Amino acid sequence: MTQKALDLSIVVPVYNEEESLPELFEWICRVVDEHSITTEVLFVDDGSSDASWSVIMNLRKSDSRAKGIRFNRNYGKSAALQTGFQACNGEVVITMDADLQDSPDEIPGLIKMIKEDGYQLVSGWKRERHDPLGKTIPSKFFNGVTRMVSGIKLHDFNCGLKAYHRDVVKNIEVYGEMHRYIPLIAKWSGFYKIGEKVVQHRERKFGTTKFGLERFVHGFLDLISVSFVTRFRKNPMHFFGTLGTLSFLFGIVVTGFLIGDKLYSLSHHLPVRDVVDQPLFFIALVAIILGTQLFLAGFLAEMIIQVNPKKNDYLISENLGIDA
Ligand code: UDP
Ligand code: MG
Repeated sequence: MTQKALDLSIVVPVYNEEESLPELFEWICRVVDEHSITTEVLFVDDGSSDASWSVIMNLRKSDSRAKGIRFNRNYGKSAALQTGFQACNGEVVITMDADLQDSPDEIPGLIKMIKEDGYQLVSGWKRERHDPLGKTIPSKFFNGVTRMVSGIKLHDFNCGLKAYHRDVVKNIEVYGEMHRYIPLIAKWSGFYKIGEKVVQHRERKFGTTKFGLERFVHGFLDLISVSFVTRFRKNPMHFFGTLGTLSFLFGIVVTGFLIGDKLYSLSHHLPVRDVVDQPLFFIALVAIILGTQLFLAGFLAEMIIQVNPKKNDYLISENLGIDA
């Protein structure tokens, strides 16, 4: 007999959030108790250098619903979420930032959207944000671009408060800094029922933000690579091969034209130009070489995915209440 599955797992990435954790845990418990939701709260300590881990251990002592995983160093929010996703047992999985900016009061509403309304992923939308302008304005731009690229109608892709059907988190892989693009990863893995819920947002009460301005540069590059990788990951040859073939064919056609032109001129005793005198010759040459190179890149990429590189290679140094 397997144990009765939990209703809910809450995954909380934690990086130096010692002050917030007790209040957050207490608030979560208050909400889930009120609604009789069987719950585990999985804190993933992403290599905090403050007392976060001992706070988590104390929470665990007083309430076995608190569970913890601790990284040996800081690997980033994506790694923390991915590890939490692998370890969690709930039917519905909710992610929530540790800094008390997301409100646990949203939990019942989110669960309802997953269980009753049939959504596979529900993303929070901080319609009224309590963050500095330097963060909210670029974020609007980002969300616009991401909406265009992905075709997903969300206002706030990077909201830390999200709810998932269990199948989603067990089947996607969040790596690098891809936590910003989880809805895209989910959609490209075939989870199309993506919804949005307006959520309350609060000011950071303790500590400071863990992401600086580099978030925008990284975010932009990640958007390009997530669009590319998720689409062509299984068959990179479709991308490189198409470009390579087009370039190669273009080169061949131009070469054919040059040869034809020369033969024609010779046979009609017209003045002839050396091929190396013509810009077109060099263009054709470059196109053929480029085409071959792209093809080669495609082959190499195909071989690399056969080897299936591990993208997540963090080490867990301790855990609390996690099986296996
Ligand atoms: N976080 C993490 N690892 C990191 C950076 C952040 O686990 O390397 C956690 C952090 O503790 C918080 C959440 O990710 O729970 C969101 O971070 P933060 O509040 O600094 O982001 P912001 O609200 O400024 O976007
Ligand atoms: Mg925050």
